[in-house]
Parts: sequence; structure tokens; C-alpha cells
Amino acid sequence: MVRVIDALVRAEAEISVHGGPYARLEAEVLLCHVLDIDRTRLYAALQDMLPEDCYGSLSRLIERSAKEPLAYLTNTKEFCGREFYVDGRVLVPRPETETLVEATLQVAKTRVPVAGQSLKVADIGTGSGIIAITLALAIPNVSMYAVDVSKAALEVAAINCSRHEVSDRITLLHGDLLIPLPDHVDIIVANLPYVTEDELAAAEHDWSTMPLAAEPRLALNGGSDGLEVIQRLIAMASQRLTPGGSILLEIGYGQGSKVISIVKRYFVNARCSIHQDLAGLDRVLVVGLSN
Ligand code: GLN
Repeated sequence: MVRVIDALVRAEAEISVHGGPYARLEAEVLLCHVLDIDRTRLYAALQDMLPEDCYGSLSRLIERSAKEPLAYLTNTKEFCGREFYVDGRVLVPRPETETLVEATLQVAKTRVPVAGQSLKVADIGTGSGIIAITLALAIPNVSMYAVDVSKAALEVAAINCSRHEVSDRITLLHGDLLIPLPDHVDIIVANLPYVTEDELAAAEHDWSTMPLAAEPRLALNGGSDGLEVIQRLIAMASQRLTPGGSILLEIGYGQGSKVISIVKRYFVNARCSIHQDLAGLDRVLVVGLSN
């Protein structure tokens, strides 16, 4: 048996070997996770003995931390103020995706659904379900579809829907982009893959982009220019949007003008605007279609 403080020092030393920049913080988070306590209680427990089984769990997590982001080890990530379940079946939620959610809420406020009908929104490539769930909890009476081509990702989305008690308000659909939608929708929101194949290949060997290397390729790989999946979505959008509908897309920071030119190919009169994320980078494209 070792004391908690000794386990913490050892965890920090081992995590820092494989280059994690926040080794001390990660060590504390992992110890809190195995002990099932928060950080304040961890500091109060530093001189206590660490139970044997916790030490075993901690060692296994330290080993995994060389190749996996912290969110996969603790199976949790905060997004828009809520905790979501995550594992290797889905992307780790990113703070920049909160910009996409905020932009969607702004658009939703301006859309008055036809009397007696609810606003219909589709989250395409839902992954862990963070976008659909956050929107469903924020927009009264919304009809929400959440689509993913990965059955494994939809299992994670289902866990999060039940954790946040919205299973009866979100319809999870399996399939490619807009194909599974049973109905026209007013708003399409999507954080589709937009990383280029070259960027992904580089990320395999670079610790600083480590979350990318551990995450599902399918959720990140946007093909040679990063825009293959986004382009396919835009190409099929006219068949699934109600008149005056909107499309909101998360994009890479250098992709704005390229995506706008794709949109203009399919929707000549579309109004396009780009929103910056908290780092000041172009991150969200908002497309408003004419009636
Ligand atoms: N924002 C992610 C990144 O660049 C990419 C997510 C995506 O492809 N949709 O790390």
C-alpha cells in the first residue's frame, strides 16, 4: 500500500515521460477518478493510504494515458456546462463547438415555426450527441433528429440522451448524412469531419495533437481538402430543408471562403456569414436560404 501523495508523485512522473504538458493536473484528475472524489477532497486525503484496487486502476490508466486523451480515461467531458459520457467511439467534445451551438440558438430564435408545429432541427454527425442534447434542452418544443453513420457513436449518444433525460425528445437515426431523415427540417446543424488527410497523417506523430490521433478517423477525415463530407451534405440539403431554412456548419479556420463557394454553387441566393470561436478563428458558417 502507498499513500495517496506518493501515488500522485509517481503518476505525475510517469505521465510527464510521454510528454503530456499538464502531467500534474492529469495525475490529480486520474486519482480523483479512481477514488471517486473531487479535487478538494483529494488534497485533504493526500496522507491517507490508497486502497490496493485503486492503485491497480491508476496504473492501468497511466499506461493508457500515453495514447489516449484524458476524457477517454475518465469517460467524461464538459460541454456547454454539462457533463457528457465519452469514449473511443466518439470525438472528444471541443470548446470551439460551443460557438456552433450558440450560433444555432440565435438562428432558432428567429425562426417562428408554422402555427401548431414545432421547430425541426437535425444534428448531422451527432457523435456523442452533445449538440443535439444541448439544443434540445435549450429550445422549447423542438423536434430534434440526431444522425450518425457510426452505430457505435449512436450508442454513446443514447447513453448521453438518457443521462440528460431527453431520450423521448431526440430521434436517433443511423445512416449517411441526410438520407435517414423522415421529414423536412428547418435547421441543419453539423460538426462533420473537416480535417485533411495530410493533417491527420501528421497528427499521428505529434503529441500536441494527440486527441486527434486517438479519435475515430471517421469523425475527422474530410478527405484530401477536408471538405468532402461537408460538400456532400450541402449537395443534398435542398431536398431536406423547409423554405427559408438554415444550415450551420463547424469548419476549419482556413476553410471559410472555400465552403462559401461550394454553398453558392447549390444555393445562388444564400446568405452566408462566418462566426469566430473563442480563439478568434473562423469556425462556424451560417447559411440562410431564401424562402
Ligand atoms: N475541431 C477538430 C480539430 O481540428 C476537428 C473536428 C472535426 O473534424 N469536425 O481538432
